[in-house]
Amino acid sequence: MKIKFYKNYLLYIFTALFLYSCDSSSTSSYNVDNGDNNMGGGSDNTELPGGFSKFISEYTDVYISGNYVIVESAGVPNHPSPYWGAGHPNYVSPHSTMVVNPNLISEQNFKFYIPLNPSVSSAVSSTPLGPIGVSISGVPFYNQYAGPNNQPLDNEIPSFDNYYGHPQQTGQYHYHWEPTYLTFNESSSMLIGYSLDGFPIYGPTEQSNGQYPSNLDELNGHSHSTNEYEDGTYHYHATSTSPYLLGGFKGKYGSLNGGGYFTN
Ligand SMILES: [Zn+2]
Ligand SMILES: [Zn+2]
Repeated sequence: MKIKFYKNYLLYIFTALFLYSCDSSSTSSYNVDNGDNNMGGGSDNTELPGGFSKFISEYTDVYISGNYVIVESAGVPNHPSPYWGAGHPNYVSPHSTMVVNPNLISEQNFKFYIPLNPSVSSAVSSTPLGPIGVSISGVPFYNQYAGPNNQPLDNEIPSFDNYYGHPQQTGQYHYHWEPTYLTFNESSSMLIGYSLDGFPIYGPTEQSNGQYPSNLDELNGHSHSTNEYEDGTYHYHATSTSPYLLGGFKGKYGSLNGGGYFTN
């Protein structure tokens, strides 16, 4: 027991030193991706379909591998949050009604496999807990539930920061809702990311007329042409009521075709 305690103690000291050195030496505002395959954003993504050029290149690597578009990211937000931890350059005080959870943001090593040519599946599959998609800033999307028994989010919502995100127990920051840091800065009709079934996710309004869609199916989806998909595509819209992002996968996903995501 003593030895184990000692080891844990050393680990604690080491971790504390490491965190301290990270904090004290950090001069850049946000995590910046420094991968080699950086193709997110810009105009040189002629091989990537539709909206993949919308991924923010500072935070994501986006490239094609086989039948997938790979999105690599550290999964941390590109905006302030109390969940960076006091002393961090991106720390802000909690908003007035916020109930801060005990978790802190930590960098992940995400690799999202998004079908290059998504297709509508004959049967809808339910979304799992954990990442179900990825925003254009590299932060994962989670579903409308708080736990394995489809508990509603009600008890978690007070822990959302100013931009409707929060980290879970292992430090994975995520959005269950519209990522408002993106939509408030650009447009409520913008492409906000992709579902892991390959279909794009848009903000709450339509690009064509700025109105809220009136014909969404039970998954928050429907089909029509968009700025990124002139020939039309199935897509989801963020909503202010459950399921908030997508209520299930309309397309093939995960082990059905080898997709999904990885982190370590
Ligand atoms: Zn959550
Ligand atoms: Zn639409």
